[in-house]
Amino acid sequence: MSAPTPQPPPLPITPPSILGLDALFNNPVFAGGIGLAGLGAAAAFGRRAAISGAGLLRRQLLVNIEISKRDPSYNWVLAWLAQPRDNTGFLASRLTRLRSLSITTTTKSLAQDASSAASPGAGRTHADFRVQPGFGKHVVRHAPGVYIAVHREKAGTATTATGEPHETLTLTLLWMHRHVLGELFTAAHALAQSSQQGRTVVYTARKMEWAVLGRPRLKRPLRSVVLDAGVAEGLVADVKEFLRAQQWYTDRGVPYRRGYLLYGPPGTGKTSFIQALAGELDYSVAMINLSEVGMTDDLLAQLLTQLPEKSILLLEDVDAALANRRQRDPDGYGGRTVTASGLLNALDGLAAGEDRIAFLTTNHIDRLDPALIRPGRVDMMVRIGEATRHQASVMWDRYYGDIDEHHSGRQRFLDRLEELGLFGGDNQDPVAPKRHTSTAAIQGLFQFNKGDMEGAIKMAEGLIPRTFEP
Ligand code: ADP
Repeated sequence: MSAPTPQPPPLPITPPSILGLDALFNNPVFAGGIGLAGLGAAAAFGRRAAISGAGLLRRQLLVNIEISKRDPSYNWVLAWLAQPRDNTGFLASRLTRLRSLSITTTTKSLAQDASSAASPGAGRTHADFRVQPGFGKHVVRHAPGVYIAVHREKAGTATTATGEPHETLTLTLLWMHRHVLGELFTAAHALAQSSQQGRTVVYTARKMEWAVLGRPRLKRPLRSVVLDAGVAEGLVADVKEFLRAQQWYTDRGVPYRRGYLLYGPPGTGKTSFIQALAGELDYSVAMINLSEVGMTDDLLAQLLTQLPEKSILLLEDVDAALANRRQRDPDGYGGRTVTASGLLNALDGLAAGEDRIAFLTTNHIDRLDPALIRPGRVDMMVRIGEATRHQASVMWDRYYGDIDEHHSGRQRFLDRLEELGLFGGDNQDPVAPKRHTSTAAIQGLFQFNKGDMEGAIKMAEGLIPRTFEP
């Protein structure tokens, strides 16, 4: 029997992992790395905590309000921000840091001003500059200790319906100053209203939406538009009666709409009267020319559903709609124009402005679709015609009343127009058409002879409409 083979003494068992870690920890390079990594992790954690803490703080302590360019208050707030805020009368006071500004310039001819008819400045232009916060971040001091951070930015690549870049304005305030927002919007709205006081805003269609046409114009006084005796008075009384009768329409479930058709030759004061009427009622004018290229049935319907508040709808050259139908009938051609049925649908459409005063104008009543003349579409038709003796007389007084002491000049002027056959006289020629002149032409004559009534009488012959001779 062989003796058992002696076994080697068992090795002390040490877990290899611990063995490895020890070695690693004993390694100064590794230990330093771990230290750094730990510090990094702690820093990252700290940063994250700080960010979320700041976010939390911001959410708790600050209030943000974002205003889209689509909202009417966008421009009001921009204009309000552009108000002078300190004794220097300009925005950039020590505490107001509006670093980038944008400017909107509008010019107007001094002669356009109703009051400047006899002004020596006629022919020159007047420029208005409006400074607003530009794109970027600004800080505005609203009151002692109350600051508003303003961030105006373009919103990506989105564009408005007019093709301009879409914009947003974000106002940030301390939570404890949040009450300022109410004051701010009220003040901005009041400012916008006061800048339009005594003015008439005219909207026009720009692509798919309404846009303000130029700067609001000085209200045109109704008396400055001279229509034949009683015509303006009758129209004004009817519109005012309509405005008083809303309850009557509501009680009977009738859409609260009234339509007027003014027809007659060009230059007789149709458009001017509607603008003056809007001023009288403190309304705006929302104007669409149906003969405009690019105006389609769909676009017209859409615009009528979004009519600006408190505005008179003015549809000019409504005969263009019927003319288009004639062109389209033979081959069903569907170009970018308004059709007669498109016009009727837009006027009748359910959403086509429940509360609406519409004025339609045309120089060619004979071309209109009879379906247009139906209550709700057109309730009242008025011819605004060539100048009558009454109109010429009133216009004379407006221009020369103060220098024509005994009205002798007026008498001679009216007699001269009579002699020229301009009040529909037969011009001594039995086959020639009756002659007329327009109020626009008389106005032009008086403008040319401002303060010179003898000159106006001498040049009266120029009122004879020119005939085309091939
Ligand atoms: P319409 O719309 O009939 O073509 P407008 O209202 O556009 O005519 O008038 C063209 C110009 O002539 C305007 O400057 C306007 O002031 C003047 N005008 C025309 N008719 C009158 C009128 N009846 N009273 C005062 N101004 C008039």
